[in-house]
Amino acid sequence: MKSRSLSLVLFLSLFPASLPLIAQPATHPDRQVAVTIDDLPSGMADKLPGSQIVAMTAKLLGTLRDQRVPVVGFVNEKKLYKPGEVDDRIKALSMWLDYGFELGNHTFSHMSLNQAGLKAWEDDTIQGESVIRMLLAQHHMKLRYFRHPYLDTGRDLLTRRQAEAFLAERGYRIAPVTLDGWDWAFAGLYEDAKQRNDTDLQQKIVKDYLAYHDAVFTYSEQESVKVVGYEPRQVLLLHASNLEADHIGELLDLLRKHGYRFITLKDALEDSAYSLPDTYVGEEGTGWLDHWAISQGKIPQGAPVFPQWVLDRSKELHLSTGEVPAPSESY
Ligand SMILES: [Zn+2]
Repeated sequence: MKSRSLSLVLFLSLFPASLPLIAQPATHPDRQVAVTIDDLPSGMADKLPGSQIVAMTAKLLGTLRDQRVPVVGFVNEKKLYKPGEVDDRIKALSMWLDYGFELGNHTFSHMSLNQAGLKAWEDDTIQGESVIRMLLAQHHMKLRYFRHPYLDTGRDLLTRRQAEAFLAERGYRIAPVTLDGWDWAFAGLYEDAKQRNDTDLQQKIVKDYLAYHDAVFTYSEQESVKVVGYEPRQVLLLHASNLEADHIGELLDLLRKHGYRFITLKDALEDSAYSLPDTYVGEEGTGWLDHWAISQGKIPQGAPVFPQWVLDRSKELHLSTGEVPAPSESY
């Protein structure tokens, strides 16, 4: 807060009121965002061969490295165990560390705490640690972040607190989310269009993916002020997919247009917003701005409407409308 007010004062003092303010981004608050990418090695791991997962990963990480965007990627290790492809799939994970990024745990099988219950979810969390712990150790790093699948943090407060204590005991910090444009829902359609070489549809998907994220960023910025009193350092949720590999550069440009600069998850979590009272419980997982609002007795209103055609088309294609496809029996 303080540094932002100071920089505004400094900015205004440099430009007397009679001069027009030209630099649009400088009129924004000092916006900061940490990028996180879930469902590694790929949200579509059951559909893509290992070689394509490696190619997708190289493209995605190349852009992020070139643009110096720090990222934590969250892994479901179950997706590694496809017969004949284990080496490729582990290689895709290693690349994250080789490129200078960090890995966190997203449970072994993308298990919902709300659906599975505490004990099964704890076991799945432990099972999800083995390969990433080894890879991190090879890079002299420690496993320190956990992201809840479906953002399901518990359907009652006792379970939620027990799960938090379990994670803390194992050395985890929970990775919250404050910006979420449901990229996974666009990514499923994009993958299908890409495989059919339907470039018109790919363009339409990308256009709506960017437009919806733009609306979500604006809504979340306004919601932040209403709920937190200022715009905290945000945490963006994305998913490992060909949509992101091909188009994350445009999304990063959109964030810059909003005035964001990119920071590490560690830096983001130092914002005191992440210590706000949070008693949210519910069947449906949701972002932390909603957690804080509901904990304050406020009902979040005015969220942008997700494009219905994306959901309708996903149903037609029998794609999951809940984040990632159910694990296939062959794994
Ligand atoms: Zn996920």
